[in-house]
Amino acid sequence: MIKVIIDFDGTLTAEEEQAGLLAEAMLASLADDILGVPRAKLTAEYQATRAQLEQNPHQYRWEVNGLVASYCDEGAFILNTTTVQTLLKENPTYLRAVQAAYPHPEYDAVIDCTNELFHRHTAVLPLTFRPTAKQVLAELIEHPQRRPIILTNSLGDKVKRHIEKLGLADKVNILGDTRQYEMDPDCPCHFPTLGQSSIWPVAEDHEIDLRRPDYYQALHDAASDGSQLVVVADTFSLPGALPLMMGIPFLLTRTVYTPDWCLQVVQEHNLGIILDDLADLPAALDTLPVLLNRNAE
Ligand SMILES: [Mg+2]
Repeated sequence: MIKVIIDFDGTLTAEEEQAGLLAEAMLASLADDILGVPRAKLTAEYQATRAQLEQNPHQYRWEVNGLVASYCDEGAFILNTTTVQTLLKENPTYLRAVQAAYPHPEYDAVIDCTNELFHRHTAVLPLTFRPTAKQVLAELIEHPQRRPIILTNSLGDKVKRHIEKLGLADKVNILGDTRQYEMDPDCPCHFPTLGQSSIWPVAEDHEIDLRRPDYYQALHDAASDGSQLVVVADTFSLPGALPLMMGIPFLLTRTVYTPDWCLQVVQEHNLGIILDDLADLPAALDTLPVLLNRNAE
């Protein structure tokens, strides 16, 4: 059995169409409920901050427990999240307001705040599936040796509600709240090809920290029944790097926002495949035995 673990946001959905609405909703909540500033002022500051990130994307990262979870330019949602985090961290008055609003954070106040606003607003935003999402999921469900599983950092109920609209909710499992961003300096994760290190230097200016205990465990558990795993996603650092280093094929879908450095890393890896369109997924899975043999040689 092949478990085809497919990321939800941006892979099955047109994340680029939602990101602007998400930013608007998050900024409205911040302006009205947390910072007490006019929405227009905060929006202008957000735009200036985003321009600053886009000029030097490798310098702006989503950091959790002092470790880099993702670079800011990998997806439309991550660019929004990192922009809001930078805006809040760089303004001492905003930072104090967020710390007052989140006095007992799980991570730190800024991360808890952006996580909470992300979950709250993406749960209700209008969502467009990619044109071939339903057909591809249906094909996987039909195939006797393939089982689609939906992967998300969001809570599973949001994804379930949307999948219900495709009429497929009872036929796909959801692997929710996987916390690919949960970083832990003491993660007991080992990667044969990296020796003692848990950091994968993938390109000039980019290295991926693999100390992600929750996601590592989720993949480990998914494979524990002897199934072959494959992960499919539209971004790299969060869902893609760890599988590749665990010997699990990773298929990166090319989107309007995919940066060249991500495409290059996946292209150059033995177990990496680029999908120009989600519709190419079933055919790419047909080539899996060749890929796995070549990697084993
Ligand atoms: Mg995604």
